[in-house]
Amino acid sequence: MGEQSIEHNIAKYMKLLCANDLTTSSGGNISARTADGSIFITPSGPGKNMLRASDIIRLEPAGPVSGKDPQPSMEFQLHLSIYRARGDINAVIHAHPLFATAFLATERQIDFDLTAESRVMIGSTATVPFAPCGSKELASSVSAAAKGSNLILLENHGVVAVGSSLQQAYNRIELTEAAAKTTFIGEVAGDRRSLSPDQLDLIDMLLGNEKME
Ligand code: 13P
Ligand code: ZN
Repeated sequence: MGEQSIEHNIAKYMKLLCANDLTTSSGGNISARTADGSIFITPSGPGKNMLRASDIIRLEPAGPVSGKDPQPSMEFQLHLSIYRARGDINAVIHAHPLFATAFLATERQIDFDLTAESRVMIGSTATVPFAPCGSKELASSVSAAAKGSNLILLENHGVVAVGSSLQQAYNRIELTEAAAKTTFIGEVAGDRRSLSPDQLDLIDMLLGNEKME
């Protein structure tokens, strides 16, 4: 089977996010960078559960052309600034997963140390304070946080995951929601048991912790 286009893959992962309840169909956006440095991104607005490859937009270096329809995601600056900060990554996924976003609207923390899987696949995380969607302030706080983390939690908003591929960034979003659900169930059931510092050290040693790419 021939290699699929980057536009095809972005549309595929956006539909997967929606189909697996990892975002709302109006929230979230996906971009990917090609070997020649071009960046492709989802269009702004609702209907992301039905995207086709032909809907994906190539970002112009000078920014979006005003008046042209459809417009790229309103978070295009957030995506661009992450690519500038992280030469090692080629995919950025922003999503609004229900459980993770619910935690980000409370003072409770998602526990990423409940399973070895999230420890290994996600590595270190960072949280940024609320800033409006599409704002320069949000782009700059998220890209600064992305210098040291593959997963950035946006208070009262959602999550951003980066990866060397769309598959890796998608896995990190999926595991974030799994960690939020596991934390929630642990809270309801009671006596939630996180991995101990010794167990976490052992996991890091045996499996190699992907703290950074
Ligand atoms: P876009 O539809 O413009 O990508 O915005 C969705 C979103 O999640 C904003 O934070
Ligand atoms: Zn959003």
